[in-house]
Amino acid sequence: MIYRSGAARPIYPSMSSPPSHLDAGSIESLPPPGLVEKISLERYIAPTRPSLIGLSRAELAEALTAIGVPAAQHKMRVQQLWQWLYVRGARHFDEMTSMSKELRAQLHAHYTLARPEVAAEQTSVDGTRKWLLRLPGGQAGGRPHEIECVYIPEPDRGTLCLSSQIGCTLSCSFCHTGTQRLVRNLTPGEIVGQIMVARDRLGDWPSPAGARAPEAASKGSGVRLVSNIVMMGMGEPLYNFEAVRDALIIAADGEGIAISKRRITLSTSGVVPNIPRTGKEIGCMLAVSLHAAHNVLRDELVPLNRKYPIEQLLQTCREYPALSNARRITFEYVMLKGVNDSAADAKALVQLLKGIPAKINLIPFNPWPGTSYECSDWDQIESFSEIVFNAGYASPVRTPRGRDILAACGQLKSATEKLSARERLALRAMAFTD
Ligand code: SAH
Ligand code: SF4
Repeated sequence: MIYRSGAARPIYPSMSSPPSHLDAGSIESLPPPGLVEKISLERYIAPTRPSLIGLSRAELAEALTAIGVPAAQHKMRVQQLWQWLYVRGARHFDEMTSMSKELRAQLHAHYTLARPEVAAEQTSVDGTRKWLLRLPGGQAGGRPHEIECVYIPEPDRGTLCLSSQIGCTLSCSFCHTGTQRLVRNLTPGEIVGQIMVARDRLGDWPSPAGARAPEAASKGSGVRLVSNIVMMGMGEPLYNFEAVRDALIIAADGEGIAISKRRITLSTSGVVPNIPRTGKEIGCMLAVSLHAAHNVLRDELVPLNRKYPIEQLLQTCREYPALSNARRITFEYVMLKGVNDSAADAKALVQLLKGIPAKINLIPFNPWPGTSYECSDWDQIESFSEIVFNAGYASPVRTPRGRDILAACGQLKSATEKLSARERLALRAMAFTD
């Protein structure tokens, strides 16, 4: 089944064969940007060889050992691979001209450079882009899984919102992902793969021919379109800690993708034991989904609060490594009409956060079918924001982005399908930009 919208064209011009990167044996020419067509699930063929994307340097060295590359060459070869993968964005081993033809052929025989498959792409009039990505299912030959990844361009930055899990084990009452059971954790390769796909599709790699995509070219050479990352997509990143850590370490590696840790924000619903580890082992910025200033209400909104109540959570935040005025923690607060949006709630919130270098992000609630919550009225959000602001906190209200493609989300699904979690996720993710 293919779903069309407006002037949609096929993502893969020839629908008679599966996308070539699945074989990863031939160079895939990227389809032009801005397409809104979904490829049928039946066309998905999982890669047969492991992808090198998302492996650490040590794992790359192991992969080289496995194909007989002598240990004496590992350091140099790993360095070369790293450069081709993460600086140049190579999609095929043939591009790796600093390596011998024999080695390239050997790599090709055993590995791929496969990223998640782009099943559909949408571009908003405001430039926001959304990709529906397909990943191998849990069992061999099983149905593929799907996640979404959203890119939000702004004048001074471009933020990519990544998922960490398919589904979520937690069940925050206002979150649509929370109504879905966890399907599985993403691997480091699937998390880094989201960045690779976004940069592929945006033309955000330096090209030897100087042929960058229009967005990249218009920004001039050397300007990176994906400058920031937020782990605010589907899933709880701190319940997939190791994979998220390994992926973010690759994203921040100065000799590769090189996105500064100050430009990487991990959002958690409050998995207290893994918060210090986030500071020590990743060193990125932290966002905490607070949403309530009292335990009784937070227990209801974020049930994980029953395990790690507010006092414990905030104490861990106070001790977050490298916390300072320059490196504040962001507290996220979803605005729910009549639930947590009164003046008293705002006062309790600022009182609670006293002494913590913090930013407060007020997020207009994104409703979904079946939810009993409503988004607070705009006036209410404004008065709430004023109280927070007068207490000395920056309190940006996140502006929803890509509204037009949110509306077009329905184009990605069949008429009978309900709006899916991933689509909800994308709607929500588009509101995330500060
Ligand atoms: N699991 C992590 C990260 C993913 S959710 C976490 O909970 O922090 C990212 C953010 O989206 C969280 O702040 C979450 O509370 C918020 N969110 C979830 N559903 C929402 C909705 N329907 N409207 C607005 N924000 C929502
Ligand atoms: Fe999971 Fe975050 Fe949604 Fe809660 S808000 S259910 S932790 S994705």
